[in-house]
Amino acid sequence: MDTPVYDVLLVGGGGAGLRAAIAVAEADPSLSVAVASKVYPMRSHTVAAEGGAAGVVSSEDSLDNHAYDTISGGDWMSDQDVVEYFVETAPKELTQLEHWGCPWSRTPDGKVAVRPFGGMKKERTWFAADKTGFHMLHTLFQTSLKYQSITRYDEWFVSKLLIEDGRCQGVVALEMLTGQVKPILAKAVVLCSGGAGKAFPFTTNGAIKTGDGMGQAYRAGVALKDMEFVQYHPTGLVATGILITEASRGEGGILLNKEGYRYLQDYELGTPLDPKDPNHPQKRSMELGPRDRLSQAFVGELRKGRTIDTPYGAAVHLDIRHLGEAKIDKKIPFVRELCRNYAGLDPVHEPIPVRPVVHYMMGGIHVDIDGATSIPGLYAAGEAASSNLNGANRLGSNSLTELLVFGARTGHCAAEFARGVDAPNEKALSGQVAEERARILEGFLQKEGGEFRVAELRAELHEAMESGAGIYRSEDTLQQTAKVISELRDKFTKVKVDDRSNCFNTELITLLEFENLLDVSEALAHSALQRTESRGAHQRSDHEARDDDKFLKHSLAYKTDGDPRIDYLDVVITRWPPGERVYGKPVDSSGTDAKKEDS
Ligand SMILES: Cc1cc2nc3c(=O)[nH]c(=O)nc-3n(C[C@H](O)[C@H](O)[C@H](O)COP(=O)(O)OP(=O)(O)OC[C@H]3O[C@@H](n4cnc5c(N)ncnc54)[C@H](O)[C@@H]3O)c2cc1C
Repeated sequence: MDTPVYDVLLVGGGGAGLRAAIAVAEADPSLSVAVASKVYPMRSHTVAAEGGAAGVVSSEDSLDNHAYDTISGGDWMSDQDVVEYFVETAPKELTQLEHWGCPWSRTPDGKVAVRPFGGMKKERTWFAADKTGFHMLHTLFQTSLKYQSITRYDEWFVSKLLIEDGRCQGVVALEMLTGQVKPILAKAVVLCSGGAGKAFPFTTNGAIKTGDGMGQAYRAGVALKDMEFVQYHPTGLVATGILITEASRGEGGILLNKEGYRYLQDYELGTPLDPKDPNHPQKRSMELGPRDRLSQAFVGELRKGRTIDTPYGAAVHLDIRHLGEAKIDKKIPFVRELCRNYAGLDPVHEPIPVRPVVHYMMGGIHVDIDGATSIPGLYAAGEAASSNLNGANRLGSNSLTELLVFGARTGHCAAEFARGVDAPNEKALSGQVAEERARILEGFLQKEGGEFRVAELRAELHEAMESGAGIYRSEDTLQQTAKVISELRDKFTKVKVDDRSNCFNTELITLLEFENLLDVSEALAHSALQRTESRGAHQRSDHEARDDDKFLKHSLAYKTDGDPRIDYLDVVITRWPPGERVYGKPVDSSGTDAKKEDS
């Protein structure tokens, strides 16, 4: 069969990949587009998003408000030119999605409904009940189907980027149905391969979020940026880590310790809701502080011995009982469904045991505002990329919008690039393709002997990441994590493979994913080690203060033969000079009064 060649190849069929594919198809119908995904697109993690997507809609809100919340929520690590473009484009993209058929929830008078979300001073989170990601992905998927120029490679696992003559010219992928390893060539490649929460044991992330695109770009010489910033979501179900959406707190849910005390009043949490807004339905800000602060407050309660013991570890209670059955069923029905199915309880009658859980990577492939990497022809968007929007802590509901805003922009830029370059040089690439085929088939699948099962190695990695690079880190814990990662590299050369089948060989896929997790974890641990300050989601117990003089900079981790090399890049400040992200106790203990010491 002839090698397929496209103008633009998207790796990933989630929100970012499909939005980018549509952008290319719309930009120029004569361009050929391919979407390769290791799962059927509707199974991408975007489908699991519950709470909503942020974009200014009300006349009482403003783009500057959204920008400021994003920047201060991100502890001044966001590039402000990127934020300004994002907040301005967000409402247009969300409206575009409506025109493509996304069923946004409405107010009784027919306007788009918005709900409060953590760290946002105003209500600006659009939602479709609490299945927002499902509806957004469905809308994008169905829209993509109408373009003849888009070809899909469903259940193809991309394992390597093809770089030749100083530019990216395609990928090598394993067709999971047949076990064949084949090239897919393209003038431009966009990595939309999602996050890497699976580097940690307890995560809301689907099993497929193994940082594949990040690992591939890193090995090809692109930097991984800001990897030390890992977001813990404060409310995962204790046993499984399944997410209980922030919308449950947006709608009025509260967090209680084992004494039934609303402990967040004891902590400084960050931006409270606008105290001058008398109509705000929530009139509380405690549970709507930024995620990093809420997760850190949990550790505070743990240290004070005020958490609840459960068979699955320490927890606190998320209580939504006071919202009543009717509101729960209308606004957050999925929360009730998840609690019944996965925790055996009904949140209408019982509080939900929750604890912080790894949720999102602020870091990722180093790209500029156009999604371009340092390799011509290679782009990235969505959670795989670090677009510099989210800084040191992403605000809930900014990610779904980011997929749209930067998926579209990156798609356009990749299309533009593809129009200006020659077709990939198939002949020159054949050596690399053969090498990758041999690496996978002979090096792994048909390999004899070996000592370690990949599942054992993954468990070791998980233990090292959780204990050394979790919510609080220090020089000692990070050094230990880095040491285990380096030992795991050696052990990985002695990995053994039991399953020799060609058809949907999940052991082989797990191996290929694991090498990406190792690379991502290495970059993460070393970036965290070298950032000797605390900022946003990166909290060093041995360096508790933020240090703008030294570290108001993005970290860039480059792969070398030994430990990664860490460089730094200045943060772009346009209109909002760095400020203290410290606020007074936001609310009185009754939780009914909006009195705040300051805002
Ligand atoms: C449970 C949950 C709830 C969330 N809720 C919200 C929310 O309410 N609001 C919000 O803003 N954000 C939310 N987020 C975050 C947000 O959903 C994600 O950041 C976002 O959906 C990521 O989209 P993406 O397109 O970048 O990647 P994904 O949707 O993860 O898609 C990645 C794609 O890449 C493909 N892929 C990966 N590796 C390979 C490979 N090697 N070869 C081929 N294909 C590959 C996959 O098959 C998939 O199609 C939530 C996240 C989770 C986990």
